[in-house]
Amino acid sequence: MKSETDKIVLDLPTSRRDLATSITVLGAGESGVGAAILAQKKEFNVFVSDIGIIIPKYKKILEEYNIDYEQQEHTFERILNSDLIIISPGIPAHVPIIEKLKEKNIEIISEIEFAARYTDAKKICITGSNGKTTTTYLIYEIFKNAGLNVGLAGNVGFSFAKQVAEKNYDYYIIELSSFQLDYMYEFRADIAILLNITPDHLDRYENKIKNYINSKFRIFQNQTVNDIIIYSVDDELIMKEMKFKNLIQSKFPFSIQKINKKGAFLKGNEINVITDNNSMQILTDELSLVGKHNIYNSMAAAITASASNIKDETIRKTLMNFKGVEHRLEKFLSIRKVQFINDSKATNVNSVWYALESIDTDIILILGGVDKGNDYSLLYDLVKEKVKTIIALGIDNSPIIKAFGDTVEIIETKTMSHAVKSAYFFAEKGDTVLLSPACASFDLFKNYIDRGEQFKEEIRKL
Ligand code: ADP
Repeated sequence: MKSETDKIVLDLPTSRRDLATSITVLGAGESGVGAAILAQKKEFNVFVSDIGIIIPKYKKILEEYNIDYEQQEHTFERILNSDLIIISPGIPAHVPIIEKLKEKNIEIISEIEFAARYTDAKKICITGSNGKTTTTYLIYEIFKNAGLNVGLAGNVGFSFAKQVAEKNYDYYIIELSSFQLDYMYEFRADIAILLNITPDHLDRYENKIKNYINSKFRIFQNQTVNDIIIYSVDDELIMKEMKFKNLIQSKFPFSIQKINKKGAFLKGNEINVITDNNSMQILTDELSLVGKHNIYNSMAAAITASASNIKDETIRKTLMNFKGVEHRLEKFLSIRKVQFINDSKATNVNSVWYALESIDTDIILILGGVDKGNDYSLLYDLVKEKVKTIIALGIDNSPIIKAFGDTVEIIETKTMSHAVKSAYFFAEKGDTVLLSPACASFDLFKNYIDRGEQFKEEIRKL
């Protein structure tokens, strides 16, 4: 038994981990199961604990790999005897098991932190309040089209840890949510992208924007002069926070308002991308994705690729042909000249602002769900200018009625079927029906994907 422990110690980089032989993984979804597979491969004694029901796909994997697990309970005694905890991003900050672990001073890390200890691949990381998934996919597609050996990981559906255990990629493009960043300590990104910061998930941060900003800025931690940061200079919260930071990395800012010497900026409708050895241009009309927000996302992706010495032609072609990601301003069907757009992933006010901004026709807007204390006043101007009717879709529609009742006609609905039929009824030739809810979905739907699927299903029935 002693020799077994010694063998593991050799694999582990810092002193605190010298004793880590038993790991509990909290949560058995994509992230947790991947972490468990990697931990087992690295010969830790692994236990997986999920307070909910583990979905059959993941149960099967745990069984195939012979990994010990429990569901619908946390056996405190066993978990509190672990040397190291790997926490899944879905677990709330203050549940009893976490409080107890903290009391006992047991190290808790995210799957990303854990997996990074076992790979030498270059890590390109993306965070922000909005645009993470879109930008992550854009970069991944460019790297793939450049013929590089690249993996897609993080918050986008594929476990980083599982890939580290089973693949041998040279690059990882990793989407990081603030939940993952909260449990990252020694992780170092080769390229870190901070797209924007707008109030979101504040319930998790004691309603303090400062805590949320701190979490996002963790993406830059541990970086050296040889690493790169890419960030929006148009974002007030980012720029304010930057003043207090002494960041030594190579900096590539992007902006659609200001000219930058390095990074990316807009000159008329020409996007200029300038990195150390390269300068390239692409016209905004050439981008396959519409809207100002996608100019930002494309700038961040182009800087990343250019700084990684990918050819301009590959970058340009990918940005011109990118199909977009489902449930993000997804042009679905046009029925009798009424265009239906599925933006179910728009779960905060900021993303709805960009959706409205990007559409030139009159709009029937389907809005609502679980309101996280939204400030709808940001939408007033665009709603006045473009929205003919709001279809409120949620169990409690009162915040929407309160915010827009005096501005525009509002129809209250409580099912997707009713919402889509009503929207179609009010739409005229040339109009757009936009599902862009500004709210979480779990009052009426399983998640934003279910909401988007039901939207499309009801459109097909029209
Ligand atoms: P995330 O992964 O950060 O949630 P997504 O790419 O999934 O971001 O997009 C979520 C929503 O935000 C969609 O409605 C999308 O149209 C919108 N969006 C995408 N990029 C941006 C951006 N840079 N700024 C604001 N909204 C954005």
